[in-house]
Amino acid sequence: MTYVGRNGAVVGLAVVTSAGADAPSEEAVRALDNWAALLRTRRLVSAGVAPLCAGAVRAREEVDAVLSGTAGPVAVVGGLPVDALVAARWRARGVVSVAVAEQVPPGAVAVIGPAGATPEVRAGLAGRGVTVVDATCGKVADLHAQIRAFVAGGEAVLVAGRSTDAVTPGLTAQAAPGQVKVLENLEHAMAVPVPDPARVAVVIAPGRPVEDAEVITETVRARFGHVLPQNPASYCHAADDRAHTLQRLAHSCDTVLIAGLLDEPEAQEALRVVEEAGAPARLIHSPEDIRPEWLRHTAAIGVTATSTTDPALLTRILHALSGAGPTAVTTQHTTTGGRVASVPRLAFGRRPRRGTRRARRTNRRIRPA
Ligand code: SF4
Repeated sequence: MTYVGRNGAVVGLAVVTSAGADAPSEEAVRALDNWAALLRTRRLVSAGVAPLCAGAVRAREEVDAVLSGTAGPVAVVGGLPVDALVAARWRARGVVSVAVAEQVPPGAVAVIGPAGATPEVRAGLAGRGVTVVDATCGKVADLHAQIRAFVAGGEAVLVAGRSTDAVTPGLTAQAAPGQVKVLENLEHAMAVPVPDPARVAVVIAPGRPVEDAEVITETVRARFGHVLPQNPASYCHAADDRAHTLQRLAHSCDTVLIAGLLDEPEAQEALRVVEEAGAPARLIHSPEDIRPEWLRHTAAIGVTATSTTDPALLTRILHALSGAGPTAVTTQHTTTGGRVASVPRLAFGRRPRRGTRRARRTNRRIRPA
């Protein structure tokens, strides 16, 4: 507990101990010493990146619209990240999250989440006669269509992504088993077998940072030479924006606090990005988790949260930190915008047959793919 004067200076610090104690305990004195040593002015930098990507926001709105129009059960198919407040509200309304069609309650409205669904799940939903609301993100649906076109054209499709991501089953299920393969790392990209090295297409799984994934796609290109590319207009930059924002926090702050849960992949990813950018990162799920030793010798502290964190928690953390001295609270974020200049569009279609004049012309025009 601190007392901040009118000029913003911290003028007092108190530790509350149990009632009736004659003298402060050793523990209380130690706590006072620890926290008093931290009192100073600081910058608190909050990550201003939106907690949910555009696809998740749209899907969330679809679920809310369904809830306002039906009293029956609602099932979200394939997962949808929402913060703790929304999750509690949906739970109270009986919204369930399911992975397969068989788990959808009879008579429910099934909302397909932003990661999309496999053709098998869609067929299962149709077979159960439930009402389906398709909230698949436009970028995901676009990539599904591109993968189907590549496979129809005889290409093996390689996806730079992770097999555990919610979007992956929908991507690999767009063709017969084995025609779409997921590349998780460089070793995989170097070793993945394909039926015909001259017939390869490579795409980036939505939700993966494009810049990270490009290391994998470039490895594929270096290995096979010319490959068919994804239309870059369908890249999703939501993960890049989140990663860049965390890197900026890491560069401009002495430590970064991440509000999230230990078993949350998004929290683990945030820890990795901040630490690789060179700043200590701490995962917390309440202000009480903040340790005084983390704040010692810090002039600037970054604070961020995962998409499922209660938004009020971020405010509580900033409030708690402001007790350790006068603070300037700012936000930082990076956003990838749309096109800023008119550039000629390339046609992304079937590759002309090798050796023809059109093939030589096309390869000159779009290499490196
Ligand atoms: S493609 Fe991008 S915007 Fe769409 S759901 Fe995935 S991360 Fe969100």
